[in-house]
Amino acid sequence: MGKEVKECMSKRSFAKGIHPGYFKDLSSGKQVASARAPAQVIIPMHQNIGAPCEPVVQVGDEVKLGQKIGEPKGFVSAPVFASVSGKVTRIEPFNHPLGNPVLAVFIENDGLDTPDEGMKPREPLEALSAKEIIQISKDAGLVGLGGATFPTHVKLSPPPETSIDTVIINGAECEPFLTADHRQMVERADDIVYGLKGFMKALGAAMGIIGIEDNKPDAVVSMEKAVAEGKGDYDLVVYPLHTKYPQGAEKMLIKATTGRDVPTGALPMAVSVVNQNSGTAIALAEAIKLGKPLYERVVTVTGPGIKEPANLLVRNGTLVKDLIEQCGGMTDDARKLILGGPMMGLAQPGDTVPVTKGVSGVLVLTGEFVSDLPIASCIKCGKCLEVCPMNLLPNFIGSASEKAIFDLAEKYGAMDCFECGCCTYICPAKRPLVQWIRIAKGEIGARRK
Ligand code: SF4
Ligand code: SF4
Repeated sequence: MGKEVKECMSKRSFAKGIHPGYFKDLSSGKQVASARAPAQVIIPMHQNIGAPCEPVVQVGDEVKLGQKIGEPKGFVSAPVFASVSGKVTRIEPFNHPLGNPVLAVFIENDGLDTPDEGMKPREPLEALSAKEIIQISKDAGLVGLGGATFPTHVKLSPPPETSIDTVIINGAECEPFLTADHRQMVERADDIVYGLKGFMKALGAAMGIIGIEDNKPDAVVSMEKAVAEGKGDYDLVVYPLHTKYPQGAEKMLIKATTGRDVPTGALPMAVSVVNQNSGTAIALAEAIKLGKPLYERVVTVTGPGIKEPANLLVRNGTLVKDLIEQCGGMTDDARKLILGGPMMGLAQPGDTVPVTKGVSGVLVLTGEFVSDLPIASCIKCGKCLEVCPMNLLPNFIGSASEKAIFDLAEKYGAMDCFECGCCTYICPAKRPLVQWIRIAKGEIGARRK
């Protein structure tokens, strides 16, 4: 372990950031339970960063649980699978968490869960080559389950000239309210260790780190036990991290656990690191041990606007409104529905939207969490600069975007913003900085194309 790591261990965090209210106790003590399988699932053909899939089934087809129903249209893409057995009734555009409708396969559930013949255990990890592990993750449709949905096989395939020495499991779960990763680290620690070893073998990495914020002490204990029992010849370590948002962002987590700085515009592999979410590690373990593709995931359904918060194992294509019903419904004062956490999640116009691979949480907020204050002028307090973990000038970028001067927003580094929302959270003038910056990034990206 180098000097850089030791220095970092004494701090175990990153510079700047914020300390929002976390509200995790609403669901952190709730064991993961299986959500009811719906009578119909609606499975979008685009569930990852990168290219969408094309349906490989037709209306009228009978499909089995775990059968591939969407074939990727590019390398940066991941197949999608039937999350129930039954009959394909429609293939047409439907609501999507990202906003615009997306082509989706509707499957009427026959209630039998007849498994696809392809779901068979693979060779044990010890017998698999790096190439085989990457192929298994590709065939199983694995993507980053923290919300980024970057295809896992792509992350496991760095350019030949790039060497990776460290894999970091992201157990920070720094978004307020969300507890899906927390519960899985408590309940599925052995599979996280198994998956981490799989990632390390695929990448030829010597070191595996599991970074967990110290507001989840039971997860730290559980992961430390699993590491002690399951590490074998692998060099694995659990780092408790100082709780601070956005600790789970790739660059912040790398800084907190290794002390390394990822250069502006570069990927973690530039500093020989690959990050993976704890849920993705479990998905790799299941793909190897069971031959199970990614057709379900754990979702936290929570917030003051949910009557009975829960952590649920949810089949892909289940409607959000079904999950909310299973959690007792919304309270009378529910005001806002968000998929994901309150900082980086996506506000939804309604609950008739399916759960996809990228949905880590269903959050319903009440009035006290939703600001009705008018946007005021910048009072030049500098607070947004003090908290931006990317050392940007959010006030300047936001103002440039507000006035539609996108060249200026680009000059100020808009494209380096990863939309953590710290600046908006802290701004006393309630200026929607991250929303403006998002608009600027969209315009700049479109112009670059
Ligand atoms: S400018 Fe971007 S990276 Fe910086 S605090 Fe705001 S949202 Fe986060
Ligand atoms: S925090 Fe808000 S008011 Fe303060 S400098 Fe930034 S934009 Fe202006």
